[in-house]
Amino acid sequence: MNGETSRPPALGFSSDNIAGASPEVAQALVKHSSGQAGPYGTDELTAQVKRKFCEIFERDVEVFLVPTGTAANALCLSAMTPPWGNIYCHPASHINNDECGAPEFFSNGAKLMTVDGPAAKLDIVRLRERTREKVGDVHTTQPACVSITQATEVGSIYTLDEIEAIGDVCKSSSLGLHMDGSRFANALVSLGCSPAEMTWKAGVDALSFGATKNGVLAAEAIVLFNTSLATEMSYRRKRAGHLSSKMRFLSAQIDAYLTDDLWLRNARKANAAAQRLAQGLEGLGGVEVLGGTEANILFCRLDSAMIDALLKAGFGFYHDRWGPNVVRFVTSFATTAEDVDHLLNQVRLAADRTQER
Ligand SMILES: *Cc1c(COP(=O)(O)O)cnc(C)c1O
Repeated sequence: MNGETSRPPALGFSSDNIAGASPEVAQALVKHSSGQAGPYGTDELTAQVKRKFCEIFERDVEVFLVPTGTAANALCLSAMTPPWGNIYCHPASHINNDECGAPEFFSNGAKLMTVDGPAAKLDIVRLRERTREKVGDVHTTQPACVSITQATEVGSIYTLDEIEAIGDVCKSSSLGLHMDGSRFANALVSLGCSPAEMTWKAGVDALSFGATKNGVLAAEAIVLFNTSLATEMSYRRKRAGHLSSKMRFLSAQIDAYLTDDLWLRNARKANAAAQRLAQGLEGLGGVEVLGGTEANILFCRLDSAMIDALLKAGFGFYHDRWGPNVVRFVTSFATTAEDVDHLLNQVRLAADRTQER
């Protein structure tokens, strides 16, 4: 039995956080609900999670579980940035747009400095220039760290060379490098490299290892490659109110997520669903697929009548945020081929109807 019952096609393509959780994760919570365990991360399961991360990243790492990606990001950044520091990030980044000032709050007022670049990726030349401006000028906030998102907010992916180049900029100016890996697994399976290659081998110091969008209920991992940040992180997490007393439940989720490659299998499913959607949309009249679909996020341009028809049919997705008639579809580990085909059929119907008029 695979735990899947037949259901009508899912209509939600707005984000990957509208999906539920993998049965393995839900079952792990039930399994660890009985009996006693040490509080605040002193339990055996939490120690096991740390060992698993050390294995996955092929080195010693420090791990701090937290309930949200915003907490992971803000805590990582605050550990690498003094209140007078600059955090360089893309204008489209989650830390810049979607965290209600948490990075600034947790860092006691550090400054986010945006560096643009195509496909929501930092332009390396501009980054190098910006991080060298006004260094040592007591009147100006000072470069402290760089944050990149992998996969990015638009579903694009930094190549290993690109991460290494950013890592080199950081190293040459003694800046920290943070990776917002809210969709870490989606990027990893798309690149087909090792977790070590995509992170510390390329110069990443601190990673927000996402899990919630890819099959977990509510847990994310801060993974520190620069382990000298660990002591400070432990106090920062508690002070921020993010040290769970029943840590075993966060650990149970992450442990299940890392067991038997569930995290990688889920990401492959999500990416495959996006690929299926991209291939189905290519060549349909009235549809223009925008950019490559590298992870589980797809952008396309549909005409307004088609957008209206899809909304009316009950589909959920964001549109017209990124430009007129631009639609974003996000798939998840739970998106099935049937879900995608149902959407494609409706797009086809809408396209036919639009062309008849
Ligand atoms: C979803 C997401 C996060 C985490 O958001 P939370 O809602 O705080 O869990 C972080 N970064 C990116 C790019 C995201 O898409």
